[in-house]
Amino acid sequence: MHELSLAHSLVEIVCEALPRVDGGKVREVRLNLGALAGVVADSLEFCYDIVTRDTPLEGSRLVIRTVPVAIHCPACDRTFELPGVQHFRCSACGTPSADIRQGREIEVESIEVESSESEVAEDVAEEDRP
Ligand SMILES: [Zn+2]
Repeated sequence: MHELSLAHSLVEIVCEALPRVDGGKVREVRLNLGALAGVVADSLEFCYDIVTRDTPLEGSRLVIRTVPVAIHCPACDRTFELPGVQHFRCSACGTPSADIRQGREIEVESIEVESSESEVAEDVAEEDRP
């Protein structure tokens, strides 16, 4: 199942990106998903909940943003986003184009981690005591 292996990869990517701080838990992962990536967002969310168990990502939220397909029209020399994935032609002049510039990506946009900054601040405050 494609979504399951993708969810596993996501966990790996996020864990590698996590700063090595004690108790650093992931709160939210934002993913850009191209309309042509061949991934079903609902399935990915379902798999995400399963594979994140017993990892720093457990209980975090997966926010998926669908990236529309963009093609380049050689006649207009213009790149533009398509409203759907049915017709690959220029919206201005109607020239068919298979020059896809956007819409296949699967990329982690951002990772929100429970900050340990508040703990650091507390420690500093305690040292300030007379
Ligand atoms: Zn055109």
